[in-house]
Amino acid sequence: MSTETKEKLRYERPMIRKMNAGLMNKFGTRTEYQPTSHIDTVPVKRIIEQYGSPCFVISERTIRKTYQSALRAFKTRYPKVQFAWSYKTNYLDAVCKVFHQEGAWAEVVSGFEYEKAIRNGVPGNKILFNGPDKTIAELKQAIENESTIHIDHFDELYDLIEIVETSKKKAKVAIRVNMDVGVYPLWDRFGFNYESYQAWNAITKIMNCEKMELVGLHTHIGTFMLTAGAYGIAASKLCDLAMNIKAKWNKSIQYIDMGGGFASTNTLRGSYLPGNDISPSFDDYAEVITSTILNYGFKQEDLPLLMLESGRALIDDAGYLVGSVLANKRLADGRRATIMDFGVNILFTAFWYEHKISPAQEFTHHSEDMVVYGPLCMNIDKVRESVNLPLLNRGDHVVVHKVGAYNMTQWMQFIAMRPNVVMIDMKGEVHLIRKNETIETLTDLESIPAHLNAFKL
Ligand SMILES: *Cc1c(COP(=O)(O)O)cnc(C)c1O
Repeated sequence: MSTETKEKLRYERPMIRKMNAGLMNKFGTRTEYQPTSHIDTVPVKRIIEQYGSPCFVISERTIRKTYQSALRAFKTRYPKVQFAWSYKTNYLDAVCKVFHQEGAWAEVVSGFEYEKAIRNGVPGNKILFNGPDKTIAELKQAIENESTIHIDHFDELYDLIEIVETSKKKAKVAIRVNMDVGVYPLWDRFGFNYESYQAWNAITKIMNCEKMELVGLHTHIGTFMLTAGAYGIAASKLCDLAMNIKAKWNKSIQYIDMGGGFASTNTLRGSYLPGNDISPSFDDYAEVITSTILNYGFKQEDLPLLMLESGRALIDDAGYLVGSVLANKRLADGRRATIMDFGVNILFTAFWYEHKISPAQEFTHHSEDMVVYGPLCMNIDKVRESVNLPLLNRGDHVVVHKVGAYNMTQWMQFIAMRPNVVMIDMKGEVHLIRKNETIETLTDLESIPAHLNAFKL
C-alpha cells in the first residue's frame, strides 16, 4: 500500500518583527559610520579641548552656502524675493548677523526678539513683527520704527485702531492668514481664517481705518512641511485675497509672505526613509510657490514682492553638537546603552528627529543596536531610542549633526547649564559666540529674604 500521501503545508503564524534601525537597507549601513573627526577643517578634539564638552559648533560657511542656494532657487524663478530671518529658530547675534550680511531682514515673534533685531542694527522698516503677544508699548514702538506689524487676532487689531488715533505715523500692517492647505491638523490658532471670511473681515476693517496701511498678506502654514504642494494652495489663497483687495479698493498689496516651514534634511522620528531622500528641496518649494503667484493673473506692475521666513531649513545643517561618552551599560533586557554628556536639555530636537550621531575618531568595526541616553536624572532623556553605532568607549567624542535650528533657543537649564557655542568662520578660525553658563548665571538672578539666611543643621 502506498504511503505517499502528500503532506499538507504547515500553517505559519504571522508575526510582527520590530524594525531595527541598523539593518542593511538599500542605502547600506557603513556610510553612517564614517568618523567625523573635523568640522570645516577644525579637529573636533581641539574644539573640545579648548571649549569643553559638550559644545555647539556653527559653520558660517554652511549658513552662507545654504542661504545662497535657497535665495537662488527663488530668485531665478521670480523677480522680487526677500528673506527675513526667523529669530526664534536661532537668535544668537552672530548667527543673525551672518543672515543679515547675506541680505535677510528680521522676522520676530516677541518684544525681546524685536529688541535684539534693533540692537543688531536691522533698520526698523526691515523687521516683520509676528506673534500673538505684542504689548501696547511694543506696538507703539513698531509703528514709530515703521516696522510691519503682522496682526494675529481681532483684539490686536482693535488695540492698533485705538493706538493710531493718537500716533503721528500710520501703522504699516499685514494680516496673518490661516487656511486649509490639505495638511492636518490645521494651524488655525494663529491669524485670521480664510475659508470662514474672517480674513476678509479683518481686511475690510483695516481698509476702513485711515491711519493704517495694509502692505502685506502673511501665512505660516506649519513646520517641517513634507509636501511642497501645500504651499501652492496657500499661495493661491493669498493671491485671491490680494486680487479682491485690488478689485474692491484699487489697492495693490506690496508683498505676499509665505512664512517658513520648509523641511530640513533631518530624519523625523519614526520615518522609514531618511530625510535626505524625502524632504522637498528649496527648488521644489520655490517652483510651486512662484509658479502659483506668477500664473495667478496679476498685472506685471502689481506683482507682489515674495517674502519668505524660512527658519530650520536655513540653519539646521550648519549646527553640530560635539560631546563625549560618559559611560556604557547593559539594560535589564540586554540592550546596550551609551550615556552621553548631552541630553534633551540642550538637544530639544531629539524629541522630533533621529539625529545622526558620528564618532569623532576611528573605531572598531563592531557595532550594536543601542539606546543613547543623555546625562539627566530624567527617564525621557533619550537622544536616540535605537541606533546602530560602533562600540564607543568612555571618553570617546561624538558629533551630532544638523542641530542648528531651535536647540539654541529652546534649550533648558534643567539639571545642567548651557554649554559654550562656537562659530567656525570662512577661514577656519573658531570664535566663541556664547559663553557657557556658570553657577552665577543662576544665582545672580536670585535673592534671599533675610530671615532665611541663617540655619543650623
Ligand atoms: C517659527 C516661524 C517661522 C520659521 O519656521 P520654520 O519652520 O523654522 O521655517 C517663520 N514664520 C513664523 C511666523 C514663525 O512663527
